[in-house]
Amino acid sequence: MKMHHVSSMPALCSSDDDTNSRDSYADQTASPPPMPRPGSMVCFDDMAEENETAVPPHQGHKRVLVTGGAGFIGSSVAEFLLSRGDDVVIVDEMNDYYDVRIKENNLRLLREAYPEEGRLKIYRADICDEDIMGTLFAEENLGWVCHMAARAGVRPSIQDPYVYIHSNIKGTTHLMELCAKHGIKNFVFASSSSVYGGSKSTFFSEEESVDNPVSPYAASKKACELLAYTYHHLYNLNISGLRFFTVYGPRGRPDMAPFKFIDRVSRGMEIQQFGDGSSSRDYTYISDIVDGIVRALDRPHKYEVFNLGKGSGTSLKEFIDLVQEHTGKDAIIKVMPDQPGDVPYTCADVSKAHKFLGYKSKIDFNEGIRRTAEWYSSAYSTKQLEICPELQANGLGRAPSMVNLAQT
Ligand code: NAD
Repeated sequence: MKMHHVSSMPALCSSDDDTNSRDSYADQTASPPPMPRPGSMVCFDDMAEENETAVPPHQGHKRVLVTGGAGFIGSSVAEFLLSRGDDVVIVDEMNDYYDVRIKENNLRLLREAYPEEGRLKIYRADICDEDIMGTLFAEENLGWVCHMAARAGVRPSIQDPYVYIHSNIKGTTHLMELCAKHGIKNFVFASSSSVYGGSKSTFFSEEESVDNPVSPYAASKKACELLAYTYHHLYNLNISGLRFFTVYGPRGRPDMAPFKFIDRVSRGMEIQQFGDGSSSRDYTYISDIVDGIVRALDRPHKYEVFNLGKGSGTSLKEFIDLVQEHTGKDAIIKVMPDQPGDVPYTCADVSKAHKFLGYKSKIDFNEGIRRTAEWYSSAYSTKQLEICPELQANGLGRAPSMVNLAQT
């Protein structure tokens, strides 16, 4: 069977290209000129130092499957794993939840930084595709899986729950079947702080009941956690589920507030403030999240769920003030009512991740926004990336789904 391995970096496609074709990269002969490399990649120098943990970290070389490796978090994890000497196999369907050129650019950066034969392989595929994924697991000699692929975003999941059921629940189940069958040493997957729903606690702890998800996205993540327990129970698969708290930073998702605010304030455009500005979130800088993911990957626990966040909240008002400070521009604010499905306050209790993984965030929100604004001004203001956030998913517009459920 023909494998869908992309042997060289994809050229960036124009918006008219058939981005739904699985082979469109491999088959492309006349490519449009590549987009220049935008700014620097994430700086991992200040990731937390090693701490002693009950499960000692696996030290040797790994060959890691990173699903969703073209996305924001997946590409950053892949970058770090490659930088420390591991080999990485990426699977990503490259859906257009947000501008596909951003994902293509993430892959380009990785391929340019790691051109050596065999270090990095990239497959364009739906993780639910039985043929491609079955062959990939049979042939790629994988030992470790870092599962970041998912439909993300709360509000779009209310409009279109079925793609969330497909990618998140069916996709995760399919991967765990394959992991159990192929003796994978550790399966680490992305859950979300959204599972805490309308909880009234100040710090969300893993011990809380999360039986009341308030969006299909949150419910899909909770379902993954439940199924993960079942796969651990049935097949002794080592599994860690990681509940990320709003992740931001260089190459961040354009549908999320940190990117949108920095972009719109920089361009003198109005921003939407949902609620009175007192709602608060635990925003986590990308290098801290990568640190937590890799710590979990290196330490195979039987079955655990960990919060990964900064461990302190920032109000929307403070957030907007910092964006103004680091972009040097005044924000034009339109106050909007609270959004259905949004969680009013999220703050991670990260004591469990600290105890089991030695995890501790290092980048405070001021520094994180400073770095993100700096990256934005190098990558976007100079028009190296011409992404139009008004056309991105979640909020101001919605890219249609590229997943054709009828074909799966
Ligand atoms: P992202 O959208 O940038 O990356 C997800 C990637 O998965 C995309 O590139 C997408 O094309 C791919 N994908 C989706 N469905 C797929 C499928 N069926 N087959 C193959 N690939 C598929 O999102 P992100 O911000 O990098 O999020 C990574 C993970 O972290 C997701 O599981 C998300 O739910 C979770 N998460 C993110 C945040 C955050 O703040 N960014 C917070 C909580 C949880």
